[in-house]
Amino acid sequence: MNIILLGAPGSGKGTMAQKLTSELKIPQISTGDIFRKNLKEETPLGLQIKDIVSGGGLVPDEITIQIVKNRLAEADCANGYILDGFPRSIVQAEALDAFQDIDCAINLDVDKETVVKRLSGRRFCPDCNGTFHISSLANATVCPVCGGKLVIRPDDSEATVRERLRVYEQNTLPLIDYYAKRGNLVTIDGDGTVDEVYARIIKALHR
Ligand code: AMP
Repeated sequence: MNIILLGAPGSGKGTMAQKLTSELKIPQISTGDIFRKNLKEETPLGLQIKDIVSGGGLVPDEITIQIVKNRLAEADCANGYILDGFPRSIVQAEALDAFQDIDCAINLDVDKETVVKRLSGRRFCPDCNGTFHISSLANATVCPVCGGKLVIRPDDSEATVRERLRVYEQNTLPLIDYYAKRGNLVTIDGDGTVDEVYARIIKALHR
């Protein structure tokens, strides 16, 4: 099954993708994770996109599309995948349609203030890519999964979060209509606990 996760930054795409990946045994392809790996390793791509990502903007479509195209050609994607954070623009969605059949686009619907609250309490583990909320952490600096040092993502500062939301509304929101017109959009109420939201997704996928 080829699945897309749509939704504002902080709507829970990454968390839901991780759960779906372990249940459906298909890989999670997160463009944000791919970009963060390049930033951390200071690759030529990382250096090229550094200012864009830290400012909350979008990496140019042609770069992002090529990365996804290469990744989806790898053997582990043969039985399906979960795209987390891609597409983020109509140009990206059209490019994806040209070489892949998408079975389902899941839109995680969460209101703006909830998203800002979630992102401002978010902590990230650069070692295992885990994302946590301070409300669920016994120790806000130690990763509960691998013991790594938790950090605040530079693009989770309040000003950058507002910019990411603006960019989302301008570029990514139109994708909801795009997939609705194709008849493969499922909108899920993204408010609630991780287990509640995940149960809604599984129910919708079984329909
Ligand atoms: P994320 O972890 O999905 O929130 O992505 C972090 C950042 O990576 C975004 O704010 C963008 O700067 C960049 N990024 C991730 N996915 C894309 C995409 N599909 N197109 C352009 N930029 C992206």
